[in-house]
Amino acid sequence: MGFSLSFPWSVKDPALLQRCSFPVACLSREQILLKNECLVFAQMPERIGLPTYSDETRMGVNGNLARNVVERGNLTSVLKFCGSEGCFEVGRSYHALIAKIGLDGDEFVATSLIDMYAKCGDIDSAVVIFNHTPRVDVASCNCLISGYASCGLFKEAFSFFMNFDSFGNGPNPYTYSIMLSICGTLSALEEGKQLHAQVVKMQYLSETAVSNALLTMYGKCREMENAEFLFNCLPQRNLISWTAIINGFYQHEDFDKAMRLFCLMRESGIEPNEYTFTIALASCGRMKNIDNGRLLHALAIKKGMALGEFVGTALIDMYSELGEMDVAEKQLKGMGTFASKVSWNALIKGLVHNKKANEALDAFSEMIRTDAACDQFTFSIILIACASLPSFNSCQQIHGWVVKANFDTNTHVGSSLIEAYTKCGSVEDAERIFSRISAPDVVSWNSLIKAYSQNGNPRRAMSLFQRMIDKGLRPTGSTFLAVLSACSHSGKIQDGQEIFQKMVSEFGILPEEAHYSCMVDLLGRSGQLEKAVDFINNLPIKPTASIWRPLLAACRCHNNLQMAELVAKHILTTDPDDATVYVTLSNMYAESGQMVNAANQRKLMKLKEIRKEPGCSWIEVSNKIHRFFSRDRTHPESAKIYNKLNQVVMQIKGTEDTNPLHPKEDSSLYHSEKLAVCFGLISLSAGKPVRIFKNLRVCIDCHNFMKFASMITKRVIVLSDNYRFHHFTNGYCSCGDYW
Ligand code: ZN
Ligand code: ZN
Repeated sequence: MGFSLSFPWSVKDPALLQRCSFPVACLSREQILLKNECLVFAQMPERIGLPTYSDETRMGVNGNLARNVVERGNLTSVLKFCGSEGCFEVGRSYHALIAKIGLDGDEFVATSLIDMYAKCGDIDSAVVIFNHTPRVDVASCNCLISGYASCGLFKEAFSFFMNFDSFGNGPNPYTYSIMLSICGTLSALEEGKQLHAQVVKMQYLSETAVSNALLTMYGKCREMENAEFLFNCLPQRNLISWTAIINGFYQHEDFDKAMRLFCLMRESGIEPNEYTFTIALASCGRMKNIDNGRLLHALAIKKGMALGEFVGTALIDMYSELGEMDVAEKQLKGMGTFASKVSWNALIKGLVHNKKANEALDAFSEMIRTDAACDQFTFSIILIACASLPSFNSCQQIHGWVVKANFDTNTHVGSSLIEAYTKCGSVEDAERIFSRISAPDVVSWNSLIKAYSQNGNPRRAMSLFQRMIDKGLRPTGSTFLAVLSACSHSGKIQDGQEIFQKMVSEFGILPEEAHYSCMVDLLGRSGQLEKAVDFINNLPIKPTASIWRPLLAACRCHNNLQMAELVAKHILTTDPDDATVYVTLSNMYAESGQMVNAANQRKLMKLKEIRKEPGCSWIEVSNKIHRFFSRDRTHPESAKIYNKLNQVVMQIKGTEDTNPLHPKEDSSLYHSEKLAVCFGLISLSAGKPVRIFKNLRVCIDCHNFMKFASMITKRVIVLSDNYRFHHFTNGYCSCGDYW
């Protein structure tokens, strides 16, 4: 009665403030008064904001009486609470109270204080109290060791452990559990084995906590044989020991073994808890074993765990891994209010990984509707969905949510936004996002460099690369891939070669297949076909089809049929079903008048039942994606689209005199990207850029068409094919006709 208090002191997490009032609520009126008095004593009156001592004396409460009410037990439980919740300031004020009433010499209270300071991360204060306590027992020693461990001061923990005896006590089983857990974290197998020997000598192995710590340590040190041997020798195995060994095998990706142990555990009469269940479900998912997965699901239902947060989410993960997205969605619905943001994230991630980007966006909207809080993982994964469509509209909408949730300065979310906008061809948005990120890391820099490299501004990509290095960031393999690709697309052969050298000699990054392929592209594009062949023949690895492929494209570009035949052979030995090889050769034969050879290539394709992926273009108009194939007349607005196309072609013909390039009257006239762009021109309001996407590389004829269309219609056209972006403005393309 009378008091309703909340703590005015700063705590690590504001949400904890409310819970922090818990110890106060447990205190009696007199205790609160005494604490208040003590705080005045501690010369912090201005920070208190509680009723002052004099107010209370006026209310007639006797301070001396109150003093007797403060009990050791009460204080230690309050300190324990402060330690576990990280309420450092509150804990400190209790320390002041303890000092004031002279209880700081008491060994129980001192142990609680050491524990509180260690858990709050103030290890120095913990050490001071430890050193000033007249008699320390094994409990206070353990508190200090575990404090060292949680602060990452492993060396100090070890040296303290070595001198344990000097404090008048030997280590107890709990001490060994802490030390073994440190060995596990450090993968210090030798030390762990020595501790194991001591544990045996001290006869602590029968203590389940110690044997479980040993099991976990061996698991973390990747010593599953030792772990299994120990497990088989254990006199008693409880659920925790079983879970430790099952988890060990799961972590080492021996899912089969994890599952077999799970069954053995049940046969021996021990039933799994929620944690054991999540490991077993994850193992089924990784093994792609749907039958076992369904059995486990049934068992979880029987035990009433299937709709709880942990097991329920593990079920969503498992069904996603198995590609059963309908069941995963049903599972989430069934969980109702038990579905946390982790459960929603699991479903969205599953949908994205199963290439159901539209469904993922729907699930995201649903998640927002249910008021589940989105975190950085939610945004990063849903932005992958936007990028995979790619949908500029969805990207902008998600961006809105990101800003609303205050995640726009977050490094991970920011990088995902950059990637998504880049995929939509908006490098301006990517740049804007980058400038908002509070602490851009290598990933953010890589994303921005890639954005410029792919979107026709290789010079900016190169200067960003230099700036990144000047800022002291260490470039990665992906950075170099983006920069090499920028060099290749801008024809900067010498720069590219120098950077490739630097990558190895200065930054010690071993080139991968993609880097080699990029170098072949760099040489091939510029017409140095022989050099490219030399480069491939001198590689330290066996050249793959992806390394040869850019050279074939270069042969086509530079009309070298002889070399194209040779390169084609190389590609077909590793990838005999590569349709582009047959199509490229057939086209090259036809262009050089070798009609029989051209026809032979087509016949070969038919014989081998290799199908060329049909060209497909798409555009997003009023939140809907419209797809077009070549000569496609299935769109409801088809008549208007063809009208527009003919109209633009006529206009282009009118400008023919001033420009030698014009679309030809052949099959390429009705290529899918032309249909898509014309649909954009008739349905998007004037001034809006027309963004289209294509699954294959754009052909020369369509590229020319886009240039003219951008000039005649005064529109910006952004075309993204599966190689790069083309920004057409006023008759020019950002790629500089070099693609
Ligand atoms: Zn075309
Ligand atoms: Zn272009």
